[in-house]
Amino acid sequence: MENTRKLHVRKRIALVAHDNKKHELIEWAEYNKGVLAQHDLYGTGTTGAMIENATGLKVQKLMSGPMGGDLQIGAMIAEEKIGVVIFFWDPMEAQPHDPDIKALLRVSVVWNIPMACDRSTADFLITSPLMYEEYEAKMTDYSKYMARKIPV
Ligand code: PGA
Repeated sequence: MENTRKLHVRKRIALVAHDNKKHELIEWAEYNKGVLAQHDLYGTGTTGAMIENATGLKVQKLMSGPMGGDLQIGAMIAEEKIGVVIFFWDPMEAQPHDPDIKALLRVSVVWNIPMACDRSTADFLITSPLMYEEYEAKMTDYSKYMARKIPV
């Protein structure tokens, strides 16, 4: 049987931005406030608070990214609690939590999560008709991996 994951009409969207990208994400969120209001929003601590202040939208705030917030989002993806990720990471500045960032990017691909890492992709994602529909995401078949033999 084909393995799928369902994204409901009302989606759970994670919003994360590194410090130099926060103004971009906030501007984007203000512009797309109408669409975002139709979904459930989650964010790393600082990003979430700033988006709440700027837009008045309710954002479920997790820990700050470097304190474990990126990993919390990653865990929620694995548990099917987050279905879309908007992650404006900074390509020009090293981050103290680089392994956590990598983990979030990786787990999003493992679970075939729609993820935008820049503003143009975020624009394409948020204007997709699929944002207003239920969506069956086809999963990669990991059954061989799960059934692998562990060397003794
Ligand atoms: P912050 O975390 O929203 O708490 O600043 C973002 C990040 O660096 O991952």
